[in-house]
Amino acid sequence: MELSRKAMSIRPSTTIEISSKAAQMKADGLDVVSFGAGEPDFDTPAHICQAAIDAIHNGKTRYTPAAGTTALREAVCRKFKRDNGLDYTFSQVVISNGGKHALMNVFMAILNEGDEVIIPAPYWLSYSEMVKIAGGTPVIIHTKKENGYMVTKEELEQAYTEKTKAFVMTSPSNPTGMISSLEDLQMIADFAVKHDILVVSDEIYEKLIYDEGKRHISIASLGQEIYDRTIVVNGVAKTYAMTGWRIGYAAAPLAIAKLMSALQSHMTSNPNSIAQEATIAALDGSQECVVEMCKQFKARRDYIYEREEAIPMLSALKPEGAFYLFVDVSGTYGKSYQGKEIHSAADFAKILLEEKYVAVIPCADFGMPDHIRLSYATSMEQIQKGMDRIEQMVKELV
Ligand code: GLU
Repeated sequence: MELSRKAMSIRPSTTIEISSKAAQMKADGLDVVSFGAGEPDFDTPAHICQAAIDAIHNGKTRYTPAAGTTALREAVCRKFKRDNGLDYTFSQVVISNGGKHALMNVFMAILNEGDEVIIPAPYWLSYSEMVKIAGGTPVIIHTKKENGYMVTKEELEQAYTEKTKAFVMTSPSNPTGMISSLEDLQMIADFAVKHDILVVSDEIYEKLIYDEGKRHISIASLGQEIYDRTIVVNGVAKTYAMTGWRIGYAAAPLAIAKLMSALQSHMTSNPNSIAQEATIAALDGSQECVVEMCKQFKARRDYIYEREEAIPMLSALKPEGAFYLFVDVSGTYGKSYQGKEIHSAADFAKILLEEKYVAVIPCADFGMPDHIRLSYATSMEQIQKGMDRIEQMVKELV
């Protein structure tokens, strides 16, 4: 029997696979350092946990509307107004089971068979697979390091065809950590308006920005025409250390939001009612916890980048946000570790995990096979240990 061709064309998520492998190795008693999945090592702040406990005691344990409770959707509208200067009504907001699910809903709501979606590489590996699941065709642009991994106007125009339906962007970026400037955003907005295509803007890392003078701007805030063509996706996982709670959200033109809600009503009914209450506390409550976590991420960013730059044959751009370091390892190609030759980032990552017990993500599935990604959402002690081991491995290459 032939199973689903579509499902068989999808690659499983490497970020999830490698992180699970590292967790299993740890459970087996190995001293593994994981720079795998982007998951904050902090506990969810106490006031958010308390809101969930209260929700259970107050009977908030039943189905909610498919798109989420009105109270949470209104809290999300307040957040968009406060942080991004964006005006949405609650009916334009759909709460989902994590940012990933919000994105999947978006692609299912906007794509028809054969529609093309432009995705600049490096990109977070799930975008291309989600587009395929929704019947679309990913069109990849390979951005350049000398452009800060930002797409150019020429590259965009070259990628455009009559079938282009949407453009996907992430700022701050996973995996590079780079932030789109106002000029970058304006150029993309002009392109989208000119060709009347949609922009899917993944802003899940918006609060994780480390340098004076750098700030997050939502592309949807650049005027009515681009607002009308943008779907903003965000969530609480990264900002509030709430990865396991699975709450993401999207804000969109009303017609798109309605479709997303209808799809969700059949697929999952609604996101977890208790986690929705906790999310209201996260968004409406004190943001001091975010400031504190950000401070720690910044110290880790500074340290990991400095260590990486001191290692010969590796190179990276200093990330400006998110919690990833995107490292070019092609300088090690042709070298061997105890007889094992390196020809790709996948080889590098495999040797590193097997010989030095350090898990990193090889980035072929991010559209850049010469790179690895290190998540520094882990403790300083782990980062020190992991970087010592990477340095040691590179030293031992012949
Ligand atoms: N988004 C995170 C990452 O890139 C979590 C894992 C995943 O969903 O891919 O590591």
